Amino acid sequence: MLTGLARDGGLYVPESWPRFSADEIAALAGLDYAEVAYRVTRPFIGAALDAGTYRAMVEQTYRVFTHGAVAPLVELAPNHWLMELFHGPTLAFKDYAMQLLGNLFNHILGARGRRVTIIGATSGDTGSAAIEACRGREAIDIFILFPHGRVSDVQRRQMTTVDDSNVHAIAIDGTFDDCQALLKDMFNDPNFRDEVAMSGVNSINWARILGQIVYYFVAAAALGCWERKIAFAVPTGNFGNIYAGYAAREMGLPISHLVLATNANDILSNLLATGTMTQGPVHASLSPSMDILVASNFERYLFDLLDRDGAAVAQQMTAFQDGELALSQDALGAARDVFAGFRMDDAGTLEEIGRRYEASGQLLDPHSAIGVAAGAAKRFEASVPMVSLATAHPAKFPDAVEQATGIRPPLPAHMADLMERTERFDVLANDLAAVQGFVRDRLAEKEVA
Ligand SMILES: *Cc1c(COP(=O)(O)O)cnc(C)c1O
Repeated sequence: MLTGLARDGGLYVPESWPRFSADEIAALAGLDYAEVAYRVTRPFIGAALDAGTYRAMVEQTYRVFTHGAVAPLVELAPNHWLMELFHGPTLAFKDYAMQLLGNLFNHILGARGRRVTIIGATSGDTGSAAIEACRGREAIDIFILFPHGRVSDVQRRQMTTVDDSNVHAIAIDGTFDDCQALLKDMFNDPNFRDEVAMSGVNSINWARILGQIVYYFVAAAALGCWERKIAFAVPTGNFGNIYAGYAAREMGLPISHLVLATNANDILSNLLATGTMTQGPVHASLSPSMDILVASNFERYLFDLLDRDGAAVAQQMTAFQDGELALSQDALGAARDVFAGFRMDDAGTLEEIGRRYEASGQLLDPHSAIGVAAGAAKRFEASVPMVSLATAHPAKFPDAVEQATGIRPPLPAHMADLMERTERFDVLANDLAAVQGFVRDRLAEKEVA
């Protein structure tokens, strides 16, 4: 958790997956979200924290969510469910893992008398969720890179109107993939990394995935799926959320399949169709948190797909950097056993938002709408519950929702004045030295002060 990315540039994965029996999953039904979170994540914590401390931390984490069920299920159509993952402080699913990560960081840094500089890249929602989880914490400075002009006003303001002095929002002249590449370059610069005690909260950090596994178990337990099958549709960008679904399946959840839903940036759904993954230009869409072509967590899945052969993974990742990654027929077949691909462009997304509003009065944000359309399109058996993950609150993307329905969803009361708050951020070139210099200067200023 503290290291983020491994020093050789690889990603951490568990040596083995803990398995939950059908009885253990059945026993989760009706428990509080926090209790399920405790039971599902506990095997990964090991001896790092004692049970009482960790349980109290998890309970505190989910108390800040504004819905009694934390992640409520709504039925959209017969046996097609929406899981609302937008009842956290920044209104996107990122809060569910990030709040836990913030508390884990705080506790462990305090216990060890250490401090860290967290540097993160965001396509919109990770940044605000990370800032909200780390603001005002003494042992942490947090720097967030976001693509200038490519996030929604609400998303930007959630990052730039926080006035705690340990929070630094940086607009980069570039795309999210540029931001993520800068982040990786900083991680791969050992001198810089040690000098600033760098750490990360992007979903390259294993603890993020850990916190996201929980709600798959919550949904399965609520719908009585410990022996019978369940399916999920997941709006996907960096492959983090859906990888957590894959992890849940490896841990024993009877998941028949995971629908991988993309917008016009369809590199991942295309991989399932063709077996190849090719670099190309990013298209700006109505679902900006999915405007990603280099899905960092895909590497974790590839590791399992290639029988945990690190050298083979490295070879494939290099091939991708050089232009194209190609799966063998066996590997593609294995991927298709778990994942079904789905793609929807902006026009389809607006239609879906309108259609769902008319059918049931449910307002969907553009990301969630793609997940709902994907779930409806890829239901292979009516008796298997399909759960589409709603990854953001509609008020986070009011323009698209208004365009589709004529209704402008209001922000919840705790952020009703967001559009009037003062913004504070810096714009930097897409340049490693410039960003590193900025981080050093800011940390030095704080030391003087
Ligand atoms: C981050 C995000 C996604 C994509 O999740 P990944 O884990 O990157 O695949 C989808 N929708 C919303 C609203 C997001 O914030």
